[in-house]
Amino acid sequence: MIQEIKSGIYHNEYREQSPEKGDYIMFAQGRSILMRKASEDIAYLHFEEIPTQMSYIYLFQININGKMQKFFLGESGKLPQSIMNDYTYEPQNVFRTKGPDYMAFAGITACQLANWYAATRYCGTCGMALVHDGKERMMRCPKCNAMHYPKISPAVIVGVIDKEQERILMTKYAGRDYKKYALIAGFSEIGETAEDTVRREVMEEVGIKVKNIRYYKSQPWSFTDTLLLGFYCELDGDDRIQLDQEELSIGQWLRRDEIPTEYDGISLTNEMIMRFKNGEEH
Ligand SMILES: [Zn+2]
Repeated sequence: MIQEIKSGIYHNEYREQSPEKGDYIMFAQGRSILMRKASEDIAYLHFEEIPTQMSYIYLFQININGKMQKFFLGESGKLPQSIMNDYTYEPQNVFRTKGPDYMAFAGITACQLANWYAATRYCGTCGMALVHDGKERMMRCPKCNAMHYPKISPAVIVGVIDKEQERILMTKYAGRDYKKYALIAGFSEIGETAEDTVRREVMEEVGIKVKNIRYYKSQPWSFTDTLLLGFYCELDGDDRIQLDQEELSIGQWLRRDEIPTEYDGISLTNEMIMRFKNGEEH
């Protein structure tokens, strides 16, 4: 999965600090991140390459084969044309296909953080401009003291299995660019457990009942500001699918040998599908 960096260890501890020579500076525009043009591997700007004065926000560091590499966020509007000749903003989906793995994970994680900082400039309670806390990753209101922490939305991914006929419930989203098979998925709502979310989403999207819900694994999924919680469960009773056509274009039971999905090493959904395909879901 995208967060499982083979050559490095992600360090998320927040310590306010300034960039130095060799540190990477990330720039975001919406859901796009600045990287070197026409480069096979992902390459970001180093601090010493930036001739302009600007302020920086510390993001995180990754221990890559024993060397600590720091990542900071810079101010997109302040980059000179000389840099933009060699660099371009790439939409976040580039991190599903390009490497190395630690640079892809750094890119998508920086993208989520940049979007949170961009959307967290004023206090939602009193309207005052927010200030950085200094001790932790949090924006504080100097007027009413409200504390604004990064927003992460929990969501479930559900592998519904028909044990008797050895099939899994596969779906395709309606009206999205993503055309491959997926699993039932949905955001947790206020007042429900993750298991409640599993039962509700399966009922809403395909109209079936499930039992024996068991937690599998989680995944930070910065593409949608989400923490994904993967569950397997079993069909309970009638297998007839009543599709929510606003959410899904396809909902169908597939046997292991009918699943066209191939391993991608990126998403929890893919790993869960592949585990069933290979008979390893228990
Ligand atoms: Zn306030």
